[in-house]
Amino acid sequence: MSCTPEPPEAVRRCRLRIRGQVQGVGFRPHVYALARSRGLSGWVTNDTEGVLAEVQGHALPDFLSDLVDRAPPLARIDDIRVEDLRVEPRPVGTVAGEFAILESRRAGAVATEVPPDAAVCPACLEELFDPADRRYRYPFLTCTHCGPRFTITGRLPYDRPQTSMAGFPLCAACAAEYHDPADRRFHAQPIACPECGPHLSMPVDEIAARLAAGEILALKGLGGFHLACDARNGAAVARLRRAKQRDGKPFAVMVAGLASVGAFAEADAGEAALLASIERPVVLLRKSAGAAALADGIAPGLPWLGVLLPYTPLHYLLFHEAAGRPSGTGWLEVPQDLVLVMTSANVSGEPLVIDGADAARRLGGIADATVDHDRPIVVRADDGVVRQVAGRPLAVRRARGAVPTPVRLARPVPPVLALGAHFKSTVCLTRGADAFLSQHIGDLDTAEGLRFFEEAVAHLRRLVGSEPVLVAHDLHPDYASTRYAETLGLPTLAVQHHHAHIAAVAAEHGVAGRLLGLALDGVGMGDDGAAWGGELLEVDGPRFRRLGHLDELALPGGDAAATQPWRMAAAALHRLGRTDQIAPRLAQHGPAAELAELLRRDLRCPPTSSAGRLFDAAAGLLGLCPVASFEAEAAMRLEGLVGVPRVQAGGWSIDADNRLSLLPLLESLIGRGAQEGAELFHGTLVAALVDWVRRAAEATGLRQVALGGGCLVNKVLAEGLIEGLAGCGLAVLTARAVPPNDGGLALGQAWIAGLRAGETGE
Ligand SMILES: [Zn+2]
Ligand SMILES: [Zn+2]
Repeated sequence: MSCTPEPPEAVRRCRLRIRGQVQGVGFRPHVYALARSRGLSGWVTNDTEGVLAEVQGHALPDFLSDLVDRAPPLARIDDIRVEDLRVEPRPVGTVAGEFAILESRRAGAVATEVPPDAAVCPACLEELFDPADRRYRYPFLTCTHCGPRFTITGRLPYDRPQTSMAGFPLCAACAAEYHDPADRRFHAQPIACPECGPHLSMPVDEIAARLAAGEILALKGLGGFHLACDARNGAAVARLRRAKQRDGKPFAVMVAGLASVGAFAEADAGEAALLASIERPVVLLRKSAGAAALADGIAPGLPWLGVLLPYTPLHYLLFHEAAGRPSGTGWLEVPQDLVLVMTSANVSGEPLVIDGADAARRLGGIADATVDHDRPIVVRADDGVVRQVAGRPLAVRRARGAVPTPVRLARPVPPVLALGAHFKSTVCLTRGADAFLSQHIGDLDTAEGLRFFEEAVAHLRRLVGSEPVLVAHDLHPDYASTRYAETLGLPTLAVQHHHAHIAAVAAEHGVAGRLLGLALDGVGMGDDGAAWGGELLEVDGPRFRRLGHLDELALPGGDAAATQPWRMAAAALHRLGRTDQIAPRLAQHGPAAELAELLRRDLRCPPTSSAGRLFDAAAGLLGLCPVASFEAEAAMRLEGLVGVPRVQAGGWSIDADNRLSLLPLLESLIGRGAQEGAELFHGTLVAALVDWVRRAAEATGLRQVALGGGCLVNKVLAEGLIEGLAGCGLAVLTARAVPPNDGGLALGQAWIAGLRAGETGE
């Protein structure tokens, strides 16, 4: 460090163009406060491109570095452009020597972002539990650093009149905070108080009392309704489980704070950070012995539990009430007894309910009462789901808290719209190098699901504001998304399912070059019309080559095999020349003799190279989960049994056509104990896949491999592959912020379509 004082810098004037997530996050007040504290003059405003400012004075470089380094918690700066201007004797648009926040400018194309919803911030929590505060126990308190954003915003720019807070004119006290540059709520769009803001349809003490009495309530939250009940009340959980019978998915549970997690689940430092992050996703944690104190029906037969922390003031108030209304926030630092089941309020297979009247109608048979409020939800968003894999988060479901933050592509592409597949649907729209992936929409089997899909497309187009020149869809002609693509009157591009899975991972990592792709998935249509799903690809942007695939098993009875793992066990026995054993071994699960006959005569037994079905076959042979009550249940149960994966010597072979066969492994599972079998299956599968990819890397000279497909949410499989392939000196790319399953497919389709549109100049 030099002791010589720097010569005083000359007065400069700059125009700043700041792009990224800079609206609705307190960025203008941040610029304002920094400028004022440094005696700079000028102005700042929001427009359709982000934040625009002019500043004049000394020491602008320091101002600029603070602008970035001390940015507000919800801000994300993608780009700042600084342009030198002529120094004004009197700064334009304001009183000389002062700094002003000017009205938003609305003209021109929309090119900025609305932030994701964020959990209540620490400052708001202090107010929520401070009996002297005017927002004490107010369920809708929020400020610049927290609260609803995406789910209340219909269009840009993000300003109160464009949100569902438009119907709540600010009272004098709130207006004073809103206009006071020194206040935490300065220009915070969703702010409110008990005087002027939204209200619940039921008092908090009554909600808490009903939950304590074993009722199931439909609770309106940020992005939709939850069904909530006391997680320790076996009768209530059993009733909820019966009501959602067709849907055997595990329920998530909510606890007061990190201090309350340890009683029934294990969370390492990374998992704790995920739980407490402002996105507040459901985090899949390993159950501990204490989980036995929770009702059986929450996550039956699985070693994991989906846990989330409160993220709205109402959630916190339920725990506060149960704790006896303590003052301050200290009580959150000690374990609290209350555990709530918090599961998406939907009828099986349909989208989340967001409207009070709809809740009463569609959830009437499930919930004992509905807790509504008068702040409309403009856009649905389920809770996000993540799990820690290889020490880093991996999105299982990308939803509230993560949308609409864009994925930055390797380079700008023409605007394209991608429509995903059929299950776990999401859609994606690009603008330049930004790819905006929608929130989780769900399955497209129902009329409600399709309506949500169309709404999500329309909302994304309004928020992103780009006009697509090409529409990408799955190769499968019968998917509702494919048929929808054909109604848009735009050029379309059919993208092979597993190519899209690998492209999604490449897109997330900003990789544009040639690479190897290992897609381990359920079933997707291949170029040859067959049911692919265990694919080794060479991907070169918009093109790919199938280098090899898993050796096929039959899908006996077609689609039914996807939900009945015992059928895949039958297919495996048939391939092993043990067709005679199908009936004696599997008759208790279904029509095994008939199935054996179909297999013998090769009737209604299309072949599949699906890795997901290979997991089913293994589970079926081990007698685990003969019939699945939800997607991938067999694979989850199998994974859940693994302590230490072990490799079966000679468990696989690779033939001259580069087909990887695991038949020797499947044969060795027959008659084994479930845990031993699960460990052998995982260990051997990983070793076989690593061997397969290593050989392809040697043959092609490619040193980078992307792992995609729904099987990659399996932690044992993903961690084994990452370690094994890195051990071969390969660079391994895995899905992270975007799910490896079909929830990320639209991103891959968009990247492929964008590259294709760029080539043809469409
Ligand atoms: Zn706040
Ligand atoms: Zn007010």
